Amino acid sequence: MKALIYPKHLLEAKWNEDITLYHDGEADTPPLCLRCGQPLSRCLAENALSRYIDVNICGRCGNDEGMRDYTGDRLPLSEWYAVKHGIVKMPDTDTDDAVLVDTCSFTSVFEQPRRPTPLSSRGYPESQLCFFRSDHNGWQWHTQWFDCREKPRDKTLLDEVDAFKLGLMALPEFKDLYTMADMCYKCAERTSERTEFNLFSETEHFYVWIRMITREKDYNLYTNFYYKSSDPAN
Ligand SMILES: [Zn+2]
Repeated sequence: MKALIYPKHLLEAKWNEDITLYHDGEADTPPLCLRCGQPLSRCLAENALSRYIDVNICGRCGNDEGMRDYTGDRLPLSEWYAVKHGIVKMPDTDTDDAVLVDTCSFTSVFEQPRRPTPLSSRGYPESQLCFFRSDHNGWQWHTQWFDCREKPRDKTLLDEVDAFKLGLMALPEFKDLYTMADMCYKCAERTSERTEFNLFSETEHFYVWIRMITREKDYNLYTNFYYKSSDPAN
């Protein structure tokens, strides 16, 4: 299973497509700025490289990113013109890829009755199968798994969880704490705590909540798996 950070990968793919057409002479006009929709300047030096993803944006957007970077008021990638106007779109859901997004589409999970476990008297939502917790010691990730309910009899469900973890940790953004923190700032949902961020995803049978903590010498990554069906036998 491959993990993709939405809409970063789509914007970068669109930019590569646009600039290749322009360089090959198949497009008469420069590509549009994917951030604001205005045409880029024919003079490359008047455009800017985005601070957040590997695409060129117009000079005005470059200045705006600089200002926002200074104040900490990043424009989410989901607010970029190309995303809001459907120039780049979420891939079809029948793909095996796991798409990571900065908005939760399964908030009802967190309203479910909670199931206490020896790990936590507060418990976990009843649909939560398990989670893994990782910390980065400067050299490598150290990961522990925790069960929140009995393991399913169907081993393919556990394979699905394992495949998601492998896909997630294969992303260059999860190489170490520094790359994860950089990605959090650019692509993840912010929280009231400035060092904590969220991403959300789903696989065929699970919703996945990825909670990231960018503080050193702390637990840095919690990845939680919730059954989509309240009865996992279904
Ligand atoms: Zn622009």
